[in-house]
Amino acid sequence: MKRRIFTGGRLVIASHNPGKVREIADLLEPYGASVTSAGELGLPEPDETGASFAENAALKAAAAAATTGLAALADDSGLAVLALGGEPGIYSARWAGPARDFSYAMRKLEKAMAGKADRRACFVCALALAWPDGHVEIFEGVVDGTLVWPPRGNRGFGYDPVFLPNGRSETFGEMGPEEKHEISHRADAFRKLVDGCFRT
Ligand code: IMP
Repeated sequence: MKRRIFTGGRLVIASHNPGKVREIADLLEPYGASVTSAGELGLPEPDETGASFAENAALKAAAAAATTGLAALADDSGLAVLALGGEPGIYSARWAGPARDFSYAMRKLEKAMAGKADRRACFVCALALAWPDGHVEIFEGVVDGTLVWPPRGNRGFGYDPVFLPNGRSETFGEMGPEEKHEISHRADAFRKLVDGCFRT
């Protein structure tokens, strides 16, 4: 598939999460992208009304590109559980309630898993790069694993303590950040994005 190449210049990260923005800016620095964030530019956060990770990433990136006249990058991610038909999926953050309480979300998940022998799950990350003319490129990264109970480790965030990646003995919550970033859904999506749209 022929992808459109980002040819340098300013790029808006369509996120209000400073941690995410810093991580993305570092990753894209070698490719001539000078990064600003939706937060810095005071852009509104669009409602995530899409039916998939890819749709949500695309709508956030397209909205930021249309408003700023600059290329924009957005991500959307979450945990998909096979026995729950992909839930919590795009609702991963919303499962934690308004207080963003992930010990509550993990307990809710374990309740939903009662009596289910198949505990396979994956983390998914969609990245969308949009241009002001409406063109959008989308990349998806995945990491497969299983759900454990009780939660293990406190080094990550979100559902990390209940996610054991395939072939590993530590959950994402127990792993150091370097190890997680080597195998994570976000790293997988980023490798595909850089491969498809960036040139050194
Ligand atoms: P968003 O992409 O910022 O909307 O995040 C979606 C939600 O998915 C987060 O709030 C987390 O609950 C969950 N999630 C996404 N990536 C990860 C991860 O790497 N570890 C744990 N939880 C994650």
